Amino acid sequence: MSGYDDQNTFARILRGEIPCDIVYENEHALAFFDINPQAPVHILVVPKGSYISIQDFTQTASAAEVEGFWAAVGEAARVDPLIDRGFRIVSNSGSDAHQEVPHFHVHILGGRPLGPILNKYRDVFDSN
Ligand code: 5GP
Repeated sequence: MSGYDDQNTFARILRGEIPCDIVYENEHALAFFDINPQAPVHILVVPKGSYISIQDFTQTASAAEVEGFWAAVGEAARVDPLIDRGFRIVSNSGSDAHQEVPHFHVHILGGRPLGPILNKYRDVFDSN
């Protein structure tokens, strides 16, 4: 992908340069625990290819990569207690969503009642 920063944190995790606590891995995706969890269970799932956004991913990844990525999201969300209690999947894209790491990823959050869907930046929304 043109414009992809191969020094971003998730690229470095995928190359093994930064350690992570792996939840699930397949040929096309890696799932690991977020370093700054926003819920008792907070998992990130990233494709192994170099994609900044879901648009890059769905337009340029192979069907096998797309299938493998979403299969990994489903497998990662089997971790206890998400299956029993429920969970939320979120993906931040671009500046309005406060995407911090420019490598496409989804967050899987759970382990407690999660409140309103947009509560992470409620102060931002309330002031607009
Ligand atoms: P974004 O705001 O881009 O959707 O989310 C990026 C996420 O990556 C944040 O939740 C942040 O805590 C997480 N993160 C940033 N650096 C690291 C790291 O080095 N290791 C892990 N496991 N997570 C990270």
